[in-house]
Formats: sequence, C-alpha cells, structure tokens
Amino acid sequence: CGVFGVVGVTDAANFVALGLHALQHRGQEAGGIVTYAPDHGFNSARRFGYVRDNFTNQSVMDTLPGEIGIGHVRYSTAGSKGNTQLRDVQPFFGEFSMGGAAIAHNGNITNAAALRRELIERGSIFQSSSDSECIIHLMARSLQRDIPERMKDALRRVEGAFSVVAMTRTKLIGVRDPLGVRPLVLGKVADGWALSSETCALDIIGAEFVREIEPGEMVVITEAGVTSHRPFNARKPRFCIFEHVYFSRPDSVQGGRSVYETRRQIGVELAREAPVDADLVCPVPDSGTPAAIGFSQESGIPYAMGIIRNQYMGRTFIEPTEQIRNMGVRLKLNVNRALIAGKRVILVDDSVVRGTTSRKIKEMILDAGAKEVHFRIASPPTAWPCFYGVDTPEREKLLASHMSEEEMRQHLAVDSLRFISLDGLYRAVGEAEGRNNAEPQYCDACFSGEYPVAPSDMIERGFQV
Ligand code: 5GP
Ligand code: SF4
Ligand code: MG
Repeated sequence: CGVFGVVGVTDAANFVALGLHALQHRGQEAGGIVTYAPDHGFNSARRFGYVRDNFTNQSVMDTLPGEIGIGHVRYSTAGSKGNTQLRDVQPFFGEFSMGGAAIAHNGNITNAAALRRELIERGSIFQSSSDSECIIHLMARSLQRDIPERMKDALRRVEGAFSVVAMTRTKLIGVRDPLGVRPLVLGKVADGWALSSETCALDIIGAEFVREIEPGEMVVITEAGVTSHRPFNARKPRFCIFEHVYFSRPDSVQGGRSVYETRRQIGVELAREAPVDADLVCPVPDSGTPAAIGFSQESGIPYAMGIIRNQYMGRTFIEPTEQIRNMGVRLKLNVNRALIAGKRVILVDDSVVRGTTSRKIKEMILDAGAKEVHFRIASPPTAWPCFYGVDTPEREKLLASHMSEEEMRQHLAVDSLRFISLDGLYRAVGEAEGRNNAEPQYCDACFSGEYPVAPSDMIERGFQV
C-alpha cells in the first residue's frame, strides 16, 4: 500500500490526492482521504479504483476541506483479498475522549488475528476485516492523555511491518516499525510538511525531501515543526530489499539510494553472474526495464523493446483472481514481432512468483519467431511468502518453493533461466561484501525464508518457518 499525509497547506486534500496518484503503483484497488477543518470537522472519502478517477472529481474534493489530511492507496494482501469491501478501505477513523484521529497503514501486522480475538473479547466492535483496524482499537483502550501517546501504546503491542501516517485535528504523525521494513519519508512543502511512502510523491507536489523517518521512530508534526520520538526498543533495521527490486518506483530514493540505479546495478550483476550469448536484451516492461538496461550495458548486447506494454492496464499481479491475472498478461503486453523474429532473446524481469507471466511471455516471444529465449531474473527465486505487506500467494503456489532453478527452466520451457544470487542482489543495493549472513542488512525473507519477525498468526495456522 501507499500512505501520504500533509499539514499546513491550503486545500490539503488536493495535495494528498496528487501524492496518492504518484503512489498508485503501491496499490490500485482502492483509495481514501481524510481531512480536518475547524468549521467542518473530520471528513473522509473512500473509493474503489484509481485516484485519478475518484479524487479529481470536484464534488468529491469539495467534501474534503482543510489544511491537514492523510490518504491511503490499497493493495490487498492476506485477509480480504478478492472481496475487499468499502469498509476495509483506509484511512480508518476513531473518536477518542480527546478528539478524533485517522490512520493509514502500509505493511502487515503479523499478530493481528491474536490481537483481534483479544480485542473482540474485551468489547471492541470491529468494522472491517483489515489487520490495520487493530491499531484504532488498541488506541481506544489506552489510558494515555493524548493521541500520539495512545498510538505509542498501541504500536508497542503490534508485531510485523508498519509505516503509519496518522492525523488528529492539529497533528500529522508518522511512524515506522522498529525494523523499518516499509518506507516512509518526510518532506517540506511551502509552509507545511508532508509524509510519504516514497520520494516520488514529494516530487509531484513540489515538496523538498528532508529525510527518512528512521526505523522505530515516531514524528509528530504541527505547523510549528517536527518532534521526534522513540517509542520502541532499538533494533537493527531490516528494510524490505524487494522495495528496491520491484515495489518502489524507480524515480524514488530509498535508504539514500536511487531505486533506478539499484535496479540497473542488479542488471550489471546479473550479466556478470549469468552471461549468455544472444542478439538482444529485452525488458519485461516496466518492472524489468532498469535491470535490462544494466544487463545490456555490462554485456554489450543491444537493448531493445521487444515487448510493448499497453500503458492503460494496471499491474497484472495486483488483480486479485487467478483468472483475471491469466488474461492480464496478454491484455497488457504484446510482442514487437518485427524486432524479435529470428533473434536469440534475453528477457529480463524482476521476479518469478507463480511463473504465469514468464510462461505467457515465453509463448508470445516464440510465436513471434524468436530463435532462443533466455530469462534473467532481477531477484533470487521467490520461495517464501511475504507476511509484511507484499502480496505473495501461499507457499505451494510459488514455483521456487518446490522446484530447483533447472526444474523451473524445464517448467517454463526456455533455453536458459538464471536468477541473481542473494549476494549479487546485496552488492547491487550497495553492500560491497554481499549479505551478512550473521546479521542480514535487509529483510529478504521471501528469498531466504529467514523471517525477521516471526509470522505468529501464520505459525498458529500451521505455517512452518
Ligand atoms: P508471476 O507471473 O510469476 O506469478 O509473477 C511475476 C510477475 O508479477 C513479475 O512480472 C512482477 O513484475 C509482477 N509482480 C507484481 N506485483 C508483484 C508483487 O507484489 N510481488 C512479486 N513478486 N511480483 C509482482
Ligand atoms: Fe520485502 Fe520479501 Fe521481506 Fe516481504 S519478505 S518485506 S517482500 S523482502
Ligand atoms: Mg512485471
């Protein structure tokens, strides 16, 4: 998901809508905005679909007055996938004795089922099926006197990954979990401030990037300025390495590194680790593009757009059902026949999950007359599900959970298939020595199976770590 918030600007809702539009790649299912204005109180609008289709409408935006606002774009993970109800769409709102508060959450709470059970037993009335709603109920049970303190109480009970943007009548609040699994950045815009999942959303509103919210940090922002708090015990950070590979936009900066440059470097590493003689390097657009550029630069094999993407489709993977996903690849990508016929082609993609995309693309490329097809994948084999906010299917559906690289090659029926090594990926994100196996610098659980936070709800349901 994507989260965004702003304080101290006229028409905050317009800023939030623009910010969410720039974060649309993080969630396309639904979006919501909450604002507060002294004369109008809290207002919210939550809608299915794209930001541009909902939050450009004047009659919607007129209902969201105020100089403070937050928003969320939703991408459903475990829970209500495929049948999201409007009541699951964030931000969530609660009234407390000291006033209202709204929260927007990116990530996944790994003990949400246990918390929900406990809260319901004690009288909480849940409105949604979302894990994030626990935070509001935990806040309601806190005895603290102000909302930031209640949020601290609540979040100390929450396990897993959370980047939260919240607001009261006067305060914009940002928090990252102790490991900093999901991103959150701070920006300055005119006389106000902004919080965002990614820097690309600061760019769109003309905000200046100030710094990242640090793992384990809470910032409380008023028009007077920013105060920093440390509600959790300090831990060694474990940012999601997959943000660099796929999830973030390439024009964002994460952890002080250009996402584009990291992806290009992954391509360079791949060309070194898994060279192959061929005529063309083609990206699977758009997620494979920077890595394909790096692969071409390092190998000297010409880069070409062998597959053309229809810009008007969403990301296939995010479509909730298997059937839609299956169609999605063809609706979205088409082979540039004139270029491909008779060629030995290297296809570069970011990841292989179920193998659906790669299979379809290989068929399309062969239909177009390619002589050989070689896959180069910009992440290590995805063998484990993510429980921290990236949607991956159950373990059995992951090709790499039960197949070796060679078995996957045979399954996809391609001439060669190679994934970047975990060390190669770490080098590409700037760790010259590769992965520190004693104390990994990032979360890489979907590749390594080493979960930095025990997925306790899943373990309770029988998942074997
Ligand atoms: P597959 O078709 O193998 O199941 O999925 C791989 C494709 O899904 C890749 O092209 C990748 O770009 C895309 N994708 C979209 N969203 C995600 C995501 O959240 N995780 C992963 N691993 N891949 C995703
Ligand atoms: Fe990111 Fe993978 Fe860790 Fe999930 S499991 S947070 S996708 S690195
Ligand atoms: Mg892709």
